[in-house]
Amino acid sequence: MKNVLITGGSRGIGKACVYEFSNNGYRVFLNYNKSSDEAEKIKNETGAVIVKADVSDFKQVNNMAEFIHTNYGKIDVIVNNAGISQQKLFTDITENDWDRMFDVNMKSMYLVTKAFVDDMIYKQSGKIINISSMWGVTGGSCEVHYSAAKAAVIGFTKALAKELGPSGICVNCVAPGVIETEMNSHLTKEDFDCLCEETPLERLGKPEEIAKTVRFLASENADFITGQVVNVDGGMVI
Ligand code: NAP
Repeated sequence: MKNVLITGGSRGIGKACVYEFSNNGYRVFLNYNKSSDEAEKIKNETGAVIVKADVSDFKQVNNMAEFIHTNYGKIDVIVNNAGISQQKLFTDITENDWDRMFDVNMKSMYLVTKAFVDDMIYKQSGKIINISSMWGVTGGSCEVHYSAAKAAVIGFTKALAKELGPSGICVNCVAPGVIETEMNSHLTKEDFDCLCEETPLERLGKPEEIAKTVRFLASENADFITGQVVNVDGGMVI
């Protein structure tokens, strides 16, 4: 049985990934930070092992790695999904906003990947899937810090794919469009209508649609794919 670690597995896209992998024969480690009730509920429904850690915190990530290594062994697949967003004019973004955005959306990927990549190098195989965003590809107005952090995820993915390729490890990135999760709960009905109109497939995406792409990238069907950005966005970015 393969072990997959999913960061931010308590809600939204990460939660859908937990169900997708659990239903398809993986042992899932569900990382979360604040949503304990949600994580417990998912654990009861899927049998996932829950591991609480703020993925932007070096010590908490390393404690999580030690717990998994001591009790369960090595990780085969990492899904770096945990993230936050914020809508603000560039001129209103504080230094704190900037640092938190990069710590949670980008530094977390460095910390989590570093804590588990030796498992994969040892086995000379493994899959790392990072969740970016279409705004990391195109840039989003009033989301400069989010867009910059998500663009950094793409650079991280490509560079790591080159470095880890000779060790048999594939590193890819998924760039979702607008997906129906709590991250978009601030949007009004008019905003949603507008976004649907801009999307060739004329609808928003579902978390399960991202989860299926992530599982494909983790599977042996994607063994010759690395360093790629897969846009799952209904055609928003063409
Ligand atoms: P969401 O519904 O707000 O869920 C965010 C998840 O991240 C939660 O499980 C949350 O856990 C976790 N998280 C946040 N900060 C964390 C931290 N410091 N440590 C550990 N976990 C943390 O968001 P989502 O829409 O599913 O987004 C998931 C990923 O997809 C993000 O990287 C996001 O940027 C990206 N994305 C989303 C969309 C979209 O339209 N929804 C589009 C493009 C990209 P707790 O609640 O337990 O803290």
